[in-house]
Amino acid sequence: MDNKKVRVRFAPSPTGGLHLGGVRTVLFNYLFAKQHNGDFILRIEDTDQTRYVPGAEEYITECLRWCGLNPDESPELGGPYAPYRQSERKPLYRQYAEQLVKSGHAYYAFDTPEELESMRERLKSPENPAPQYNHVVRTQMRNSLAMPEADVQALLAAGTPHVIRIKMPVGEELSFTDMVRGNVTFNTSQVDDKVLLKADGMPTYHLAVVVDDYLMKITHAFRGEEWLPSAPVHLLLWKYLGWEADMPQWAHLPLILKPDGNGKLSKRDGDRLGFPVYAMNWTDPRSNEFTRGFRELGFLPEAFINMLAVLGWNDGSEQEIFSLEELIQKFSMDRVHKAGAKFDYEKAKWFNHQYIHHKDNETLAALFQPVLVEKGVTAVPAYVATIAGLVKERCYFVNDIWEHGFFFFQSPAGYDEAAVKPKWNADKDAFFAVWSGQLDNTPFTAAELEASFKALATEKNIKMGELQLPFRIMLTGGKFGPPVFDIAATLGKDETRSRIAKGLAAFGQ
Ligand code: GLU
Repeated sequence: MDNKKVRVRFAPSPTGGLHLGGVRTVLFNYLFAKQHNGDFILRIEDTDQTRYVPGAEEYITECLRWCGLNPDESPELGGPYAPYRQSERKPLYRQYAEQLVKSGHAYYAFDTPEELESMRERLKSPENPAPQYNHVVRTQMRNSLAMPEADVQALLAAGTPHVIRIKMPVGEELSFTDMVRGNVTFNTSQVDDKVLLKADGMPTYHLAVVVDDYLMKITHAFRGEEWLPSAPVHLLLWKYLGWEADMPQWAHLPLILKPDGNGKLSKRDGDRLGFPVYAMNWTDPRSNEFTRGFRELGFLPEAFINMLAVLGWNDGSEQEIFSLEELIQKFSMDRVHKAGAKFDYEKAKWFNHQYIHHKDNETLAALFQPVLVEKGVTAVPAYVATIAGLVKERCYFVNDIWEHGFFFFQSPAGYDEAAVKPKWNADKDAFFAVWSGQLDNTPFTAAELEASFKALATEKNIKMGELQLPFRIMLTGGKFGPPVFDIAATLGKDETRSRIAKGLAAFGQ
């Protein structure tokens, strides 16, 4: 096992968009694969056609691309173990189910949906509200364990619809070592006889996941902890199919919990508390229900990834900001917490803020371009980049550049007059008229502008503070923003002069 090439897989069912938990599973797979120079495979588990949602696979692929967590093998890319969509592998699974029947570990079951329903009705009790098809019940049903061999053969020969179920042993202790949880033990009597092959010849998840993990030479399998109860079925299948030595090491990843209270974070929690839980926008074609995604809200993929990585994992230090490269080096499954991690949206925003703050101005300008288009503004990229540089430390999202820098693109529609008018006087009028006149002789940099502004203020014996605020209000309309001489230098001489004139007209004497 140790000298085998590491191969991991993300194996989503195309039943909807990817929420935080799904992307975190992708990330842990990816980090582990890269750390070990292994392969990361995307396998689409679409054997449950009743839950298939059109567009979900494209969503998943696009999401991986946005996150930069690209697989080495996938339905789209192909690879040595293609096809990577289970529905396209359908003919492959029956032989394994039949092999299990032959070896006595599985059996044919001919029960119709009505017969199953009547069994459940008959056995339902307060102690057993949802009776299962298990070692007790199977003796009373229409299957190849309970019926005479000749009847079974006759039914099969007549093409009677049937499924193949695993024959769970009674009272056996099974255990395995989970990479997150350590030793995990089950008693087989608690597990029902899961269907392995459906009547239409399609495998269920249980059979398909084992067969494909084996055939695709998967060495480590990471999945959500909701799959832990299925682990005994899978353990037995690995054993009964004679592949035990090749069984991957498993890690069952803890849930992402709602920020308030207990339980798994759901889309409803996101709606209720006002934040996305999906990676990208998603409209469920079944309900036409729209869900807002992190991407569209203005999260940078790096920030999103960093936030997810530390949701239930740390490197043992206080460090919180990790590049993908660092994560690849430092990630380790044994530092993944066993308990679920509470999702904190404010913290997620903090991560995005950190990444925006440190992002280069040109990239931010490019990301901001759609907002400018929406606002009907045209501006050269270099100008937008300068503005991004001036306001980015205040932004949680790329779109916030507008809120903090709209005045670079349009002159103020109004002024915070209350902040200047009461203290206005003729000296200030004179100051701005003279300074504006001098601008032709001043190199248009923030430092030079500030120096000439200061010199004139000293000459006129007016305090800088008395003048800077009105100047800012002339340029931006309000009291806040980046350093005022940076704003002027960015706006340029003509615009600065024109805004001074407009400001004087509005609140001068
Ligand atoms: N198809 C399963 C899911 O949608 C994958 C579980 C696994 O990775 O084994 O969650």
